[in-house]
Amino acid sequence: MTVAEPFPWPRAELHSHLDGSLRPATAEELARAEGHRLPLQLVAPPDCPSQAAFLTYFDDPLDLLQTEAALERAARELGEDSAADGVDYLEVRWAPLLHRRRGLSTASVIEAVLRGLAAAPLEAWAIVCAMRHHPVEDNVELARLAGRYAGRGVVGFDLAGNEASWPAAPQRPAFEAARAADLHLTCHAGEAGPPANVEQALDLGVERIAHGVSAARDAGLVARLRSEGVVLDLCPTSNWKCKAVPRLEDHPLPRLVRAGVRCTISTDSRTAAATTLGQEYAIAHRVLGMNEAELRQLDRTAREARFGP
Ligand SMILES: [Zn+2]
Repeated sequence: MTVAEPFPWPRAELHSHLDGSLRPATAEELARAEGHRLPLQLVAPPDCPSQAAFLTYFDDPLDLLQTEAALERAARELGEDSAADGVDYLEVRWAPLLHRRRGLSTASVIEAVLRGLAAAPLEAWAIVCAMRHHPVEDNVELARLAGRYAGRGVVGFDLAGNEASWPAAPQRPAFEAARAADLHLTCHAGEAGPPANVEQALDLGVERIAHGVSAARDAGLVARLRSEGVVLDLCPTSNWKCKAVPRLEDHPLPRLVRAGVRCTISTDSRTAAATTLGQEYAIAHRVLGMNEAELRQLDRTAREARFGP
């Protein structure tokens, strides 16, 4: 579905995955150069049944982003595509440990992405994602290493991956290591799991939650989010494709905003979700019925809750 853009103004985007936003033309070029199986599977269909199914559209990009050159290019191009979409402040996230299949060190993965972001035509910062299915010791090590880049491009630490199968609480030591390393904290939750998963993420001391859609089903949790001022970085199209909501028009964004919860909107993954930030604002307006003042509030919240200095 394409919805005309209502209010074009410069926007901040806080939730953008490097692998899920790989340009299709670049992916194809890399695949041909490497003899990778074609056609590539990059775009999740509207009837994508679950988060687990949605995540399979990250498999081909991950295969292709295993060299420093590919990582640097993908980061720069994501910055270019975001800038062309009206974004002037961008936080890009990805899981460095998933890019070591061909022998890259974690440090070289991080540095390649930081070089790409530095070359992009907008202000861009990096958030490092630990994966839910990785051993906590590996994620602690990742947090410590990422901390060496705190203030030099990396600003945050996140937990991502299959939420239905892997709880967040056992990863507490990784969050503590990231906090000790002066990184801001966020966590994916409430995208493919109950409100209790959002509660678990809050108990880890995060400042922002990636998605948190299911929190809207629990009045007590909505009250806690409001009183603690924790921000939800929602992604309507991606949330719908992950079946956090059965239909796009059921998305709780307007209800959460009107209940006083601090919310932002993002693409999550420009390619896998097949959207742009302009498109997400258009959906918030035309499909979810939010007015211009509410849309401007989403952007204001993103700028207030940014992890960048
Ligand atoms: Zn995400």
